[in-house]
Amino acid sequence: MAENNIPHRLYLHENEIPAKWYNLRAGMKEQPDPMLLPDGTLAREEHLYPVFCKELAHQELDATTEYVDIPKEVIDIYKVYRPAPLCRAYDLEEYLGTPAKIYYKFEGNNTSGSHKLNSAVAQAYYAKAEGLKGITTETGAGQWGTALSEAARYFGLDLVVYMVKVSAEQKPFRKIMMETFEAKVLASPSDTTNVGRAILESDPDNSGSLGTAISEAIEVAVTTEGYRYVLGSVLNQVLLHQSIIGLESELALKRLGEYPDVVIGCAGGGSNLGGLIAPFMRDKIAGKNDIRVVAVEPASCPSFTRGKYAYDFCDTGKTTPLARMYTLGSGFKPSANHAGGLRYHGMSPILSKLYHDGYMEAIAVEQSSVFEAAKLFARLETILPAPESSHAIKATIDEALKCKETGEAKTILFGLTGTGYFDLNAYDQYNKGTMTDHIPTDEDLEKSLADLPQIGI
Ligand SMILES: *Cc1c(COP(=O)(O)O)cnc(C)c1O
Repeated sequence: MAENNIPHRLYLHENEIPAKWYNLRAGMKEQPDPMLLPDGTLAREEHLYPVFCKELAHQELDATTEYVDIPKEVIDIYKVYRPAPLCRAYDLEEYLGTPAKIYYKFEGNNTSGSHKLNSAVAQAYYAKAEGLKGITTETGAGQWGTALSEAARYFGLDLVVYMVKVSAEQKPFRKIMMETFEAKVLASPSDTTNVGRAILESDPDNSGSLGTAISEAIEVAVTTEGYRYVLGSVLNQVLLHQSIIGLESELALKRLGEYPDVVIGCAGGGSNLGGLIAPFMRDKIAGKNDIRVVAVEPASCPSFTRGKYAYDFCDTGKTTPLARMYTLGSGFKPSANHAGGLRYHGMSPILSKLYHDGYMEAIAVEQSSVFEAAKLFARLETILPAPESSHAIKATIDEALKCKETGEAKTILFGLTGTGYFDLNAYDQYNKGTMTDHIPTDEDLEKSLADLPQIGI
């Protein structure tokens, strides 16, 4: 029922891919609190050089450059899978009987199946440009490891991925996919690092955690000549690269004569949401619009809605610098029954500051309601959404139903970050009715929050 000539899917021309990323920090009235070293002193660019390549260390701390040129080599690979389509969810609107217009930016149209490739390509490019030989990273569910495997292969870099052991066992296809792109995938804890060996010695059956995998990846990066470490979310540099999502959305909506009233995205470490909202938040901060921005997180890992705005480590192993962010404590472990992704204890410092200052809202949703929304979306829009993305779908449906009650014809834009083909075990649980919801108690949260570093309070 396309009306007004607005197509179901609008694909911009590849020559319209933005030439620059937008650095959201540069437009903020107040800056996020600075990154600190564990001793409480300011982290400067050179402190980051052992871990990150130089250009990325620079981007991490650059709060003033508004627009950053996207290197030609990065644009060239973006052109292989971008621009990502802006879609109008006509069938979902009709099913809900809502006067709202629902748009979504679909980032799942690449082999890695998510938006993560946007930053993986950039990070691999800068590592290669600096003359590095290889990079290391960790992966939990496997999307980041897959995206980075593609990017590393493309630029001819070696890649070592520490994959949380329990995930490697549960998601063998993700491992095979990374290996197809020639990445070396090691189940973590492994016997290739001091950290890993120490853990295995005291607990040979340890099933691993993201924190351990990060510690192993960093250890290898800082002790191997020509290697650096890369991370797929949370960091300022990752939000910068992901601004391509928002900039393309802004351009496509403009072509249609549209502007969102509400922008909705799922929030794990905050990179897709930070990227999607970048140009819209830029204008909101400048007083040019009055849009609502909504972050959607799982009720089982509620960093924004129940966390503390405090300095914390970015990893469970407590080896990284400290960032001030909404956090549940670096030792927080989401319940094992949580299938829906977005399991990170902290949140992007940029988004944390915007949320703290009232520029955006956050809600938490339970996973069974997320999969209900995912299934409805799959049926109507013929895309099998990733569980992470489906958090945004759930919130969008609720928003559209509110519009139905009030009769407001709002324009909603949400981020469809990826596809769910590797999450079929979770879909299977939902289909069979065995999926359960878990919400941590206040006591659970107090326990992990009690362990926050005593810095900056
Ligand atoms: C990793 C991932 C997310 C969450 O990460 P953010 O950094 O919060 O964007 C969301 N959706 C998909 C498909 C992912 O792979």
